Amino acid sequence: MIYLDHAATTPIPRPVADAMLEVLTEQYGNPSSQYPFGSEMKKRVEGWRETVAALLDCPADRLHFTSCGTEGDNWALRAAVWQNRHVGRHIVTTAVEHSAVLECCKWLERDGYEVTYLAPDQDGVISAERVLEAVRPDTAVVSVMLVNNELGTVYPISGIARGLAAAHPKTLLHTDAVQGFGTFSAKALGADFVTVSAHKIGGPKGVGALYIGPRVKNPRPLLAGGGQERGLRSGTEATAQIAGFAKAAELRLENRERDRAHLEALHAVALEKLLGIPDMVSVGAGTAPHILAVSLAGWPAGNIVNDLGAQGICISAGSACHQGKPSHVVAALNLPKRVAAGVIRLSFGPGTTEAEIDACAQALRRHHDTRMPML
Ligand code: PLP
Repeated sequence: MIYLDHAATTPIPRPVADAMLEVLTEQYGNPSSQYPFGSEMKKRVEGWRETVAALLDCPADRLHFTSCGTEGDNWALRAAVWQNRHVGRHIVTTAVEHSAVLECCKWLERDGYEVTYLAPDQDGVISAERVLEAVRPDTAVVSVMLVNNELGTVYPISGIARGLAAAHPKTLLHTDAVQGFGTFSAKALGADFVTVSAHKIGGPKGVGALYIGPRVKNPRPLLAGGGQERGLRSGTEATAQIAGFAKAAELRLENRERDRAHLEALHAVALEKLLGIPDMVSVGAGTAPHILAVSLAGWPAGNIVNDLGAQGICISAGSACHQGKPSHVVAALNLPKRVAAGVIRLSFGPGTTEAEIDACAQALRRHHDTRMPML
């Protein structure tokens, strides 16, 4: 199999699986239990928190484990509007957010919030100025993702943070950084809430984290109960998942420079090979090195993905979370119909090879040469 869909999820390296297995089978104590078998686990959870915080570059006591990126996004938005309930009921976000943010905004609309959804230009770009222009005195929160999961476009979070601090100091900033995880410093971004997820960096599914910054004075708890996660998210810690998360973070931290150089080189090679295929065009001004969006203009993306899938090559027709439905991200770009129909995403990981990209490019060329385009 050739797996070129790392933005959907990533393979788990053996040391990550081993770290999880040890906790599952041997160190299964509940961190809240009083005896050493429990209290030692509590210490280990705090150690793992420090490791994940190191990858994020934030203080460990500001990082809260969650069950996934989706949970982090929902929690951040709800905590932000709660903190700013006296500021107003307006939210600014973009039309290209992950559905974890968009669907939460729709809920908030039903609760009486007004949401401004900023459309990108045809390249998927949204400038900090455009975001700041949309902010009003009653804007409780701005939520803009760091890296778009379908296009690889990187949004100017630190510029937005600076602009908010200057003109709207009460408005809170959330960024869904699930796709950028491992490539940025939370400190440097300057957002009040940062969402990340383990399974995008070689960790297990079902665990993520939410950074909550110091401007959020009294964060609204997500779950009430036994008081875990500093009273903010009760529920027995998912110790094996967290152990795997920390091991994945450690590996990413150790190899960060090497991985980045590798991904940048792969991205350049892939773009060159793919654009050599007739009717293939690039889509979006994505600069994240692990995501590449292109379109085989005129050939429906769903058919391409099925054809390559049958040959053991995994790529995506936009976000895996939108299977079967047209992508709202591609729709927001307002591309010509034939280009929009053919948008596919390749996404890479540290283990991806040039030979795999070559095989994928050849399969795409065969698809172009042997399948009929749409009318
Ligand atoms: N945000 C972005 C940008 C994503 O790409 C994803 C997953 O694809 C999520 C949020 C949701 O993360 P999770 O799958 O951990 O819920």
